[in-house]
Amino acid sequence: MNRILVAGAGPVGLTAALALARRGFEVTVVESGDQLAAESRASTFHPPTLEMLDELGVCDDLRARGLVSPTFAYRDRRDGLVAMLDLAVLAGDTRFPYRLQCEQSKLTPILLDHLLRYEGCEVRFGWHAADVTTHPSSLTLSSTDGRTVEGAWLIGADGAHSAVRRATGVTFDGITYPERFLVASVDEDLTAWLDDLAAVNYVFDPVEWCVLLRTPDHWRVLLPTPPDTTDISEISRLGSRLREVFDPGRPWRVAHTSMYRVHQRVATSFRTGRVLLAGDAAHVNNPLGGLGMNSGIHDAVAYAAALATGDDSAVWAAAADRRRIALEYVQSVSHQNYERLRATDPDARAAHLNSLRETAADPALARASLLRSSMIASLRPVPA
Ligand SMILES: Cc1cc2nc3c(=O)[nH]c(=O)nc-3n(C[C@H](O)[C@H](O)[C@H](O)COP(=O)(O)OP(=O)(O)OC[C@H]3O[C@@H](n4cnc5c(N)ncnc54)[C@H](O)[C@@H]3O)c2cc1C
Repeated sequence: MNRILVAGAGPVGLTAALALARRGFEVTVVESGDQLAAESRASTFHPPTLEMLDELGVCDDLRARGLVSPTFAYRDRRDGLVAMLDLAVLAGDTRFPYRLQCEQSKLTPILLDHLLRYEGCEVRFGWHAADVTTHPSSLTLSSTDGRTVEGAWLIGADGAHSAVRRATGVTFDGITYPERFLVASVDEDLTAWLDDLAAVNYVFDPVEWCVLLRTPDHWRVLLPTPPDTTDISEISRLGSRLREVFDPGRPWRVAHTSMYRVHQRVATSFRTGRVLLAGDAAHVNNPLGGLGMNSGIHDAVAYAAALATGDDSAVWAAAADRRRIALEYVQSVSHQNYERLRATDPDARAAHLNSLRETAADPALARASLLRSSMIASLRPVPA
């Protein structure tokens, strides 16, 4: 059987499907929604992800819809710019020495369009995966309303609440942060208000840290909320919190808001028999550093390459390697970003801000730091 099943038509599932289609597999994607999700979530694409999307033939379309962002900034809430890091120092390491700022909801229609050009590839919307039955050389995926589809393998890319993960009995170990994150998308031009802004700005403060980032459609402000408040009370004080970031003498124009809980969790195994877990189904992390969707896309591409070898041990190795990277790299970098943004100890804060200034001023230090934050170092050995 040459058909591979994918649960979930998010950025990870559709990347897996397209990567498999390009390697000659027939692919059936099942998606519980009636259409692609329009929700505004991930918005930063790192260099190695752009390399992978380029190899899949979709990077030009994505770049046409996004903002090429060669720099990102660290700021202090009171003192402004601390350090501006320029990805130009990665010019010898990647064809894409920049971040692309673009909502994930702009990528998925591009992936879908390309996928459907391949004969034997399809997406079934309104199909809610519920259970998996494995046979000696294939498996059957069934939906909540009793439909079934058969394939040689299943990639579970059905998000953080993955039904595929639950069906395989794999647990999702980790922690949930006490605070929720509030994201406001605003119809304001923050560059008119604040000096030295990059497209992504991590703003340090022991009490009110935040992230200011730009997408093609909006500026977004990400703020943590205290653990013991209600969503309604947080939304009602958003206006005053935004005016503490900058006070234009009138309310900010807020286009929409979302509030969500943040987890750091990794599945105990990324492979069970003929089932592979990818993206948020396999690992979730806080959004600081923009690693979640990117690492999920890396899972998808690694699995397609391993499945194409036809070598079962290569598939085991890919699943183990992607889990190792989730644990050792994605979880650790994202949690470190969180701890540093909110650090309260004045000496530790000062030392960290100084080290950021030194890093930005020294091309060799900047390159070493950017190889890590851009995720290149998680994927391949890097020459000194
Ligand atoms: C505010 C915010 C900002 C973020 N910023 C970034 C960023 O800048 N960079 C970054 O890399 N990451 C970021 N992330 C994380 C990123 O959004 C996720 O990691 C990414 O969406 C994961 O993609 P996915 O395809 O694995 O899962 P999803 O995007 O969750 O897609 C899963 C799909 O599966 C479908 N589905 C669910 N259950 C079933 C089922 N039972 N059967 C069939 N289909 C099903 C869903 O409808 C959905 O379409 C951010 C997240 C948030 C919340």
